Amino acid sequence: MTLKVTVLGLGIMGAGMAGQLVQKGFAVTVWNRDTAKSRALAAAGARVASSAAEAASDADLVMAMLAQDDASRAVWLGASGALAAMRPGAIAMESSTLTVGWVRELGAAAAARGLGFLDAPVTGSKAQAESGALSFLVGGPAELLERVRPALAAMGSNIAHVGPSGSGALVKLINNFLCGVQVASLAEALSMAERSGLDSRQVAQILGAGSPGSPLVRMIGQRMVDCAYEPNFLVPLMAKDLTYAQAEFARAGLPLESAVVARKPFLAAADRGLGERDIASIIELLRQRQG
Ligand code: NAP
Repeated sequence: MTLKVTVLGLGIMGAGMAGQLVQKGFAVTVWNRDTAKSRALAAAGARVASSAAEAASDADLVMAMLAQDDASRAVWLGASGALAAMRPGAIAMESSTLTVGWVRELGAAAAARGLGFLDAPVTGSKAQAESGALSFLVGGPAELLERVRPALAAMGSNIAHVGPSGSGALVKLINNFLCGVQVASLAEALSMAERSGLDSRQVAQILGAGSPGSPLVRMIGQRMVDCAYEPNFLVPLMAKDLTYAQAEFARAGLPLESAVVARKPFLAAADRGLGERDIASIIELLRQRQG
């Protein structure tokens, strides 16, 4: 029997993920705060609901892809929120990048209503969301994961079960901590090349091919030298991830000073009009300072 899946949040990631579910034959209902973002999904065959509650009421799996904790809280537990409307035995799944504390609180609220709950954030970005090539980091009971695995397999090429509830959220914060630090450092490295009169395109290529050349350094380095800032991953979301990671690590006695420093250019970029641009755009702050 085909799972009935509801997707709450049709931003850069949620829209691509919902599109993959529709394309692969799931019965999909969508809801987004800004209703304009539902139109393309409606044209592709998704049912569009008028509230999160209405979207959730008939689903086997309700998943959310929202900006941060406050958005998630509002959509699951607020007026016309999804959780209270779900059928007993249905599964709620959070795929946004959120704090471990909030994810565990939401899991407890779901359990109190007789619902299953998984935290299943993703790695990969816009391109992977639009092509079904994300990696899921799943926390929660293995038997719940098995029930929703077909839906996750439609959106992702890797599914890692990483532990009990909250584990997916924690691995995601550890992952994005390292991503944020790399991007902040890369902006400085390429700015140094530019200021010194080196060929920054050649330097980016050397860094990408050498020891520092993670997939992220290669991809973001290319965007920095091309000044290609169409949004794949928005600047404020990386600031949010580093904030959440720092708080989480601090609870374990790790002050995470590199995250505190790395967050600064993302916060500054958001303040200076780059809030709707890709994370690669933080290099513009250093170019502006030079000019
Ligand atoms: P996005 O394009 O900015 O979308 C954010 C979504 O959250 C939109 O649907 C937005 O609705 C909704 N939202 C924000 N505040 C809300 C509120 N108060 N009430 C209801 N809805 C609200 O972000 P994204 O790139 O899709 O990212 C979504 C999540 O995935 C984030 O947690 C992000 O950190 C994580 N993530 C992103 C990437 C990436 O590469 N982009 C990769 C992995 C994980 P409106 O359209 O109405 O504003």
